[in-house]
Amino acid sequence: MVTIHNLGFPRIGAKRELKFALESYWKGESSRDALKELGAQLRKRHWGNQTGLDLVPVGDFAFYDQVLDMSFTLGNLPERVRGFHGDGLDNYFRVARGRSAQSVEDHSACCGGVAPGEMTKWFDTNYHYIVPEFTAATEFRLDASRLLAQLVEAKAQGVNAKPVIIGPVTYLALGKAKDNSNKLALLPRLLPVYAQLLNTLATQGVEWVQIDEPLLVTELDGSWQNAFNTAYGELKACRVKLLLATYFGQLLENRSLAAHLPVAGLHVDAISGRSDVLPLLDTLPADKVLSLGVINGRNIWKTDLHATLEWLEPIHRVLQDRLWIAPSCSLLHVPVDLNSEQKLDAEIKSWLAFALQKLEELRILGKALNNGRVGVQEALIANHAAIEKRRTSRRVHNPAVKTAIAKIDSQLGQRDSAYTERAKKQASLLKLPAYPTTTIGSFPQTAEIRHARSEFKAGRLDASGYQAAMQAEIARSVREQEALDLDVLVHGEAERNDMVEYFGEQLEGYAFSQFGWVQSYGSRCVKPPILFGDISRPKAMTVEWITYAQSLTKKPMKGMLTGPVTILNWSFVRDDQPRSESCKQLALAIRQEVLDLEKAGVRVIQIDEAALREGLPLRRVQWTEYLDWAIESFRITANGVADETQIHTHMCYSEFNDIIASIADMDADVITIETSRSDMELLDAFDNFKYPNEIGPGVYDIHSPNIPTQEHIVQLMKKAADRIPAERLWVNPDCGLKTRQWAEVIPALTNMVLAAKALRQAA
Ligand code: GLN
Ligand code: ZN
Repeated sequence: MVTIHNLGFPRIGAKRELKFALESYWKGESSRDALKELGAQLRKRHWGNQTGLDLVPVGDFAFYDQVLDMSFTLGNLPERVRGFHGDGLDNYFRVARGRSAQSVEDHSACCGGVAPGEMTKWFDTNYHYIVPEFTAATEFRLDASRLLAQLVEAKAQGVNAKPVIIGPVTYLALGKAKDNSNKLALLPRLLPVYAQLLNTLATQGVEWVQIDEPLLVTELDGSWQNAFNTAYGELKACRVKLLLATYFGQLLENRSLAAHLPVAGLHVDAISGRSDVLPLLDTLPADKVLSLGVINGRNIWKTDLHATLEWLEPIHRVLQDRLWIAPSCSLLHVPVDLNSEQKLDAEIKSWLAFALQKLEELRILGKALNNGRVGVQEALIANHAAIEKRRTSRRVHNPAVKTAIAKIDSQLGQRDSAYTERAKKQASLLKLPAYPTTTIGSFPQTAEIRHARSEFKAGRLDASGYQAAMQAEIARSVREQEALDLDVLVHGEAERNDMVEYFGEQLEGYAFSQFGWVQSYGSRCVKPPILFGDISRPKAMTVEWITYAQSLTKKPMKGMLTGPVTILNWSFVRDDQPRSESCKQLALAIRQEVLDLEKAGVRVIQIDEAALREGLPLRRVQWTEYLDWAIESFRITANGVADETQIHTHMCYSEFNDIIASIADMDADVITIETSRSDMELLDAFDNFKYPNEIGPGVYDIHSPNIPTQEHIVQLMKKAADRIPAERLWVNPDCGLKTRQWAEVIPALTNMVLAAKALRQAA
């Protein structure tokens, strides 16, 4: 019999119940007991959702983050929260957010706010975890209470539980040595705690434990490879069976290592690492289980069950009972239930599967393998019909778009002249002073803006009323910017709810869910738009707003767009064509917008690529391929304009060292980046003329309510001028101002403009 199991279930709840419960608890509006009770209810419901599976994950629930849970299980709390009083859950939130709850916090004098743990992306997903902290002196101590309590709950419900933990090597690799000590030196101290944990689980009657080591799909140097052998060599003696789970990519050169670790089973991602599977059939020791992740845990498309069975059946004949099947990775990265969707177009809906539907697909595959396809024929026929409809649908395939894509040549992404030539023409047209000032695009999204938008969406405000409200906001931004004496103005993005959704809503080929929420971190969720078909732009998307803004001022108004790579990376994308193809379609659509803006007289156009870096593959060897098509897509979008039109791009992060050549290759006239928090050190990547065009290093940290002083900004810009010729420098904030208040923005920008003027005087 094939064993069917799941690696993890989304914990946030189909209606984001956990989010709302957390936020209410943090505000002091509900009790800790109520929060814990909701957690128990969600676990119960989610285990119920997984009935029919042979093994169900336990321990995948976390109130904030599964990596933080692991840190607590291992007794690895940052020094600064040790010795705090009160409930363990509050201490957990202190590490997660810097403080626990508002009203239950009755220790504010002795143990108030602390710095929260750092957060970073979980592999190449949009999920962010709390980075474990280490020093050379870190000691570990088992606290299995959380996991054991969940196990008791699960057993009481008759769940065939498979505890899920993060493996020791991945855990160390994900953490940060605060004193720059060697993290691997902690392994001998860490392993006994893992052994104790596994043996504790064994005493509770646990047979299988899923131990996640996604690190195995990344490039590992010799010492990390050895660490796997050491770790599993030592854990071999434990009295549970280990299913070593890898996901998010290919094992490649780590395949043999993974196959021969002394564990009872190996799970591989048969979606993104399918090429590992056939070689594994030959190399995997004959006593081991092979779990194949055959349902995509990273997207929202229905699985082609027929094709999957065609592939799986021969493998099943080889492996027999040693074959397990599961989703490729935890379902944490997909929304919960497609059936919640009331507004989604019926045809598109018939092509989709969220977590619950994916588990149903898994059950069908299990039955087909175990008892033959006949027993599930009806389901297979229905699935096949949906897959076929999608494959041939007119709504997916637009011949005009495919023709335009086929016509792309290297000329399309090429400006007429080199930057130095263009810069002269732009300078004589724009007549900007030295150290020109600008902002990144958005101004505060005020309560009035949000109110007008929700009234409009609810149908209580008509289109012209909404337009008038947005124009009033735009006019206000322009007035404020003129009063501040900024040099290049923006319209302020009042009309945009979100920098991707705004464009997705106006492009053909996009669909939007109502409840398709995916946890990003803690209580924060995102609802990625669904890119389902060939992309086209029926009409201009921004021209009206920008030209209205330009009509209010003599100063140059910067047109504001989101770039193709960012739109792609923040969407659920198609699985029936390469990402590069979808990206180029987006590029052509946004290019038309760029050209329309230019035609309308807009002289400066910014194309945001906030998420370009996020799309980098896990393995360095695959970076070039990604960067090639990503940069080409940007160039197609941006570079159709005349020399006189100034193209800006913006990226709100600051690690450029490893990709600077590609960034330079985008050939934007100006790039604005985040730098203020790093004291300009990050500009080192742009040093030595490695970046040949203009740069606006952010001098105002918009993530903080603090108002930067004029002196501070001058100092930062002087540091920048040490690294980059002053004539190529701009003065601007780190990112958009939409999350700030006008009361913060005005004094901060006043200081910024004064700083630029002081720099001009000094020059
Ligand atoms: N133009 C966008 C804004 O100002 C950029 C946001 C971003 O980079 N994340 O809000
Ligand atoms: Zn930004």
